[in-house]
Amino acid sequence: MPAPPSPERRPGSGQRASDERGPRPRPGGRADRAGRARSPIETIRNLGVVAHIDAGKTTTTERILHVTGRIRAPGETHDGRSTMDFDVDERQRGITIHSAATYAHWKGAQLNIVDTPGHVDFTIEVERSLRVLDGGVGVFCAVAGVEPQSETVWRQADRYRVPRLAFVNKMDRAGADFAAAVDAMRRRLGCNAVPIQLPVGAGATFAGVVDLVDWRAVLYEGGGAARPTARWTDVPAALATQAAAARQALEEAVAAEDEAFCARYLEGGASADDLALALRRCVVARRITPVLCGAALRDKGVEPLLDAVVDYLPSPADVGPCMGLEPGTSRACQREPNVDAPLSALAFKSVVDRQGTLTFVRVYSGRLAQGDTILNASKGQRERVGRLYRLHAGQREPIQEAGAGAICALVGARSIVTGDTLCDPARPITYSSIAFARPVVSLAVSPVRQVDRDALGEALAALALQDPTLRRRTDPETGEIVVSGMGELHLEVLLGRLRRDHGVEVVASPPRVAYRRTLVGRVAVEGRHVKQSGGHGQFGVVRVVFEHDPDADPWTFVDATTDGVVPRQFVASVEAGIGRALDSGGTLGVPFVQVRATLHDGEAHRKDSSDLAFQEAGALAVRALEEQGQLALLEPRMRFEVQVPEACTGAVVGHLTSRRAEVESLDQVGERKVIRGLVPLAGMFRYTSELRSLTSGRGSCTLEPHDHAPVPAAEAARVLAETRERRRRR
Ligand code: GDP
Repeated sequence: MPAPPSPERRPGSGQRASDERGPRPRPGGRADRAGRARSPIETIRNLGVVAHIDAGKTTTTERILHVTGRIRAPGETHDGRSTMDFDVDERQRGITIHSAATYAHWKGAQLNIVDTPGHVDFTIEVERSLRVLDGGVGVFCAVAGVEPQSETVWRQADRYRVPRLAFVNKMDRAGADFAAAVDAMRRRLGCNAVPIQLPVGAGATFAGVVDLVDWRAVLYEGGGAARPTARWTDVPAALATQAAAARQALEEAVAAEDEAFCARYLEGGASADDLALALRRCVVARRITPVLCGAALRDKGVEPLLDAVVDYLPSPADVGPCMGLEPGTSRACQREPNVDAPLSALAFKSVVDRQGTLTFVRVYSGRLAQGDTILNASKGQRERVGRLYRLHAGQREPIQEAGAGAICALVGARSIVTGDTLCDPARPITYSSIAFARPVVSLAVSPVRQVDRDALGEALAALALQDPTLRRRTDPETGEIVVSGMGELHLEVLLGRLRRDHGVEVVASPPRVAYRRTLVGRVAVEGRHVKQSGGHGQFGVVRVVFEHDPDADPWTFVDATTDGVVPRQFVASVEAGIGRALDSGGTLGVPFVQVRATLHDGEAHRKDSSDLAFQEAGALAVRALEEQGQLALLEPRMRFEVQVPEACTGAVVGHLTSRRAEVESLDQVGERKVIRGLVPLAGMFRYTSELRSLTSGRGSCTLEPHDHAPVPAAEAARVLAETRERRRRR
């Protein structure tokens, strides 16, 4: 290995005279660092900003918009004026709830930026953004490092194979520690985090960053209310040794992942441009996560972050062909990411407001133009493209056409919901949809005024269309409308929206755990709906085997009948009847999951069989399942991280254990203990206030949904008895 670059042997320093050190000698978005011109699609960067709540995602996005001249003055999230958090709820709560899309230009590149929420209750917003983005910027707090939600979004981004840069924000805060944050990224996220910058100072003395690739520094002067002025300089002498070691570590990390660079590096002939180009290949292949730093709130480190986005994150063309299926088959097909290919696009978000439904779309190939007829391949329905818009937070800018790589929105598309593929009707394709988590908390709502009952149904339908993690069902036994979501805050926001956006006042029960049921093993049952006394009769008999199926989400239906014992047109009725009963939870109102229903036999009557009779027979089969099957109650478990002063550890662990928590680790971080593990959600409502009193207000806790696990028998008996009692009282 070559010797570490010494301050005298500054890497890259021989490549240009010091007076050429301008704001940026690089070609920017229109050409790459090898000087090759980029095609229009290669200048696009679809990126998401993801992180733990409060790490500074919204502030970073605001500052990006400010620096790129997209907005004149950045709003502050804590005073409720930010551009990206344009929703009333977001302004009131000071957090991002809905991913907001916007765009900006930077040195010839077009950046389509999607800001995503950090609160676990709104994880669907992160999920759907990641599905359609090509790259991400993970924002971390320089003091808190890798927080639990950062881990969640990181894992989500891994699942969608999104290349990322990491930005260690808040370097101006007391206790900021860049090296510790990088170390935590490697340990907790398992990523190959490699600094491409070093901070100049930290906390109150944070003054700028050293660019390890181009071997120079940017120092910020002035500031306060005004934006500080950036001055490019040599690497400060005091940091030269440390920076040289970091530069060498960077070169070695890239050499270990990229053969072409390795050869040059070993020959000693690698330039800064070679390094940057090889680093780009490593980032696109998700082998390296470059780490940058700054203080977005102080406008420090934002321009270098933008340069890195253009230099290292992939364009839609880098991501390669998009793989899908021919609709209705399991035959793979693909589309090239260019405007001349047939149209293919994915709807990733719907917003319903007074002006109608706005559907957010990512175009993968071809062109989406106003007036075109397109196919919603997921529904098999044609749609005419009405107005098209490019989005800038709450504003819409009309456009005629959007080409491969674009993110845009269309209005008035009736059949399209989140996850649907849109394409050229002559060249159909479907892409994989978006994974939605199962809700964990539910509550019953009823309108204050009885006349609002229909309005409530319509409002909930509109809200569920926009948010697939929101489920609603009417309990057939009690008539209660039950809505379920990802957490208490999620449902609280929902109630606010019903009132504010839809004018429906509701009374809501306290939030309850969203239990589920499944069956252990298998059971064969009969559903017999036969009423033939006088007049037109009703006749439907079905014989069904129910089995546990871990892959069924929430259930699957198989028709295994032969010889038309159940006439073809009624098989769908049986499926509808079974499905509705499983979803609404049968007589207890506790929905079923992981159930496979196989219809293997039945009887029909020439005159008296009907759609309704077979639906009813299906529902009766589920009732028989409830009576005869061996059932298990499942409850949502949460992953928790509780931070407490060391002295309170014993009391807090004891309290958690009494709530059936499994403590997995107990770590020391500074003077605090961090307790991590899994706990049933049932014991965790109002936990924050209990923790506050146990720790005199010095403890903090985060919870995120993990899985559904079987409830211990005694507890299950208690829950079921309570559920029966509640239903009896209604
Ligand atoms: P988000 O929840 O990740 O979108 O975080 P926000 O952008 O809303 O920021 C959370 C809080 O951190 C706000 O009070 C910001 O003003 C503050 N903040 C953001 N960036 C910085 C920074 O660079 N330095 C400091 N000191 N505070 C910051």
